[in-house]
Amino acid sequence: MNNFYNHKAFIDLNPSQKEAVKNLEGPLLVLSGAGTGKTRVLTARLANLLFSKKTKPWNILAVTFTNKAAKEMRIRLEGLIGPSANSVWLGTFHSIAARILRENAEIVELNSNYTIITPDDQVRLLKQIMLDDEIDIKKFTPKSMSNLIGKWKDKGYQPDDIKISNNDYFANGKTVNVYKTYQLRLITLNSADFGDLLLHNLTIFSKHPDILDRYQSKISYFLVDEYQDTNTIQYLWLKLLADKTKNICCVGDDDQSIYGWRGAQVGNILRFENDYPLAKVIKLEENYRSTGRILEAANSLIVNNKERLGKNLKTSSKDGEKIDLISVWDGMDEAKRTSLEIESLHSAGFRHDQMAVLVRAGHQTRYFEERFVDIGIPYKVIGAKFYERMEIRDALAYLRVVQQPNDDLALERIINTPKRGLGTNTTSLIHSYAKKNNISFFSASQELLMTDELRPSVKRTLLNLINKFLDWNKQNKEIAHTDLAFKVLEESGYIAYWQNEKTIDGEGRLENLKELINAMSSFENLSGFLEHISLVMDGDNTADAGEVSLMTLHSAKGLEFDVVFLPGWEEGLFPSQRSIDELGLAGLEEERRLAYVGITRAKQRLFITFAANRQIHGLWQGSIPSRFISELPRHILNENIEGNIGADSSSYNQIDFDLFSKNASYGPGFFRAKQNGIAGINTYSKTRIDNNILNSNTQFDNGQRVFHQKFGMGLIISSDGDKLNINFDKAGEKKVVSSFVKLLD
Ligand code: ATP
Ligand code: MG
Repeated sequence: MNNFYNHKAFIDLNPSQKEAVKNLEGPLLVLSGAGTGKTRVLTARLANLLFSKKTKPWNILAVTFTNKAAKEMRIRLEGLIGPSANSVWLGTFHSIAARILRENAEIVELNSNYTIITPDDQVRLLKQIMLDDEIDIKKFTPKSMSNLIGKWKDKGYQPDDIKISNNDYFANGKTVNVYKTYQLRLITLNSADFGDLLLHNLTIFSKHPDILDRYQSKISYFLVDEYQDTNTIQYLWLKLLADKTKNICCVGDDDQSIYGWRGAQVGNILRFENDYPLAKVIKLEENYRSTGRILEAANSLIVNNKERLGKNLKTSSKDGEKIDLISVWDGMDEAKRTSLEIESLHSAGFRHDQMAVLVRAGHQTRYFEERFVDIGIPYKVIGAKFYERMEIRDALAYLRVVQQPNDDLALERIINTPKRGLGTNTTSLIHSYAKKNNISFFSASQELLMTDELRPSVKRTLLNLINKFLDWNKQNKEIAHTDLAFKVLEESGYIAYWQNEKTIDGEGRLENLKELINAMSSFENLSGFLEHISLVMDGDNTADAGEVSLMTLHSAKGLEFDVVFLPGWEEGLFPSQRSIDELGLAGLEEERRLAYVGITRAKQRLFITFAANRQIHGLWQGSIPSRFISELPRHILNENIEGNIGADSSSYNQIDFDLFSKNASYGPGFFRAKQNGIAGINTYSKTRIDNNILNSNTQFDNGQRVFHQKFGMGLIISSDGDKLNINFDKAGEKKVVSSFVKLLD
């Protein structure tokens, strides 16, 4: 078949959807509410482009919000068009940018085998830099520094773009310096963090207009899902790439913008018509997903937001069941009630994989997991961080060093795991030497091995390890990557380490390592696998096998289920107090959009629960129902409110919710946040960590008397660069590094 317009996937669309699918040329914005078929339209449009033979699959770039969504879209597309679907550039902003960066890495002084570092590596690296810069990391945590830098990157700021006066900012005005050093360190480590992927792309495009031109000519059609959640840098990147053809189709919903805290700019969607004056805007109004009552709940909740374009969802489907509003005693009770509902719905014919529990905060899943395990309800936690488990991270660190010996963070992680006598003394020595000479940890180890700075036993062990890495690195080009991974884990002693661990834990960890090697087999080589890992750290789930899904509201975007449970609708938890503290009214509105996303995931049944008591940081606290509950019309609710569960909760409708919303930006939390900010600037303590480096710039000559921390006094007999041959009074002749000796007057 070569005409898509005769295809069922086209015929089944409504007239507005068809219009969006047919309009292939020029800028197009599909702006409409949840469940109106935006993603469906985007997929059909992709198919139409391919059917019409207007372009080749590899000239199309389609951006989805998660790797999972990309996978689903590819499967659907393959069903429509066949295997050529595989050649479409389809993925998240990060994965596409990672590829462009790999193709042009040398321009930003990286090698094409650069590593994408994980968020906790970022924090570790920043911690080192901050300590070196004598910043009090108790006051200004590396984590918040990492957030700050992330925010700058999301806006497309390089260190030089940031103007901060020295006195009035976080970390005593040293943030820009830290940012600068951090970027340089990443280059030395041949690494990039998530934010860098797009940032480096922009640098490449601005330094080399010819390269930009090449991509602009290569990609003739752009399709973007969930456009409301693009941040500034993603917006700039897209705009630049699509500038030539302007064949760009974006779909989104301003009411579902839920990543403001990560820099998403809902304004991007509103600006579309300004950016592309010839843009066509299509609105879809019919919701095909949910029942009438579920839509009514969504509509009457979101209408409370001031910052919105304002649109109502319609449906021609039936009203459906009422929404169940259930009060419970505590988290455990909530899990119990939910599991009972799941069981009864399951016996009524609902499939487990068509049910989901969507939580506001990740920690809420614990009670549900425990309960589901207890009574045998099959479930999966989306975003279950398989790749974040200790043994997986260790194994990945080994593989990262094999792939790229300059990956310091990875090497430092496993240099003494399993324990092999290369403890903190050794690593801080290597570290100081690396920093002093601006070389990698691996090269520093190699150089130090040529001296006598290390004890003979340490030297032997380190030499052994370094040689193994060199050998594995060589084999990386010779043997299958899965075999190599096994070899590395075996020869490094890592497998034996868990085998000797006589706990049940050890067994499970070995299983996980096997699973890791399984996962590798679907990739062509180690480099492809490692890139995939860095990009899916946010939770690519395993195959569906009929399980109830447990996940956060944020990761539920774009998905749909027959039955949805929304637990924890209590003030403080949802809306999250932190969000309100930090962003005031804007934070509250983003929370409300999140509630809207949650409600609109449901096709047929929706359950909302709230507990009278919650354990927060180990302490029990009474809670009051979420203000969002009072925003739902009573006539669509089926209320299951226990009379005796707490003073406030039985009368949730009597609470003066306006009190919260009107004053949200001036509430106690707001003042608390401000005070912390002010207090932070005045307190500053000096920290000094680096005891190994005794001097940095001293010139040494033969015949001078020096002192070395380990070998004591000695006389310099010859030198070779910064390595000195010294005849020590007690230890005899040794080769040491000049920065570790002190000149005696
Ligand atoms: P969200 O805003 O949540 O991402 P969306 O606008 O992307 O939603 P889709 O996921 O594309 O909506 O569609 C929602 C549901 O409606 C899907 O099950 C889809 O198959 C169905 N659907 C969309 N359009 C039609 C149509 N014309 N006829 C029948 N079903 C439709
Ligand atoms: Mg969608």
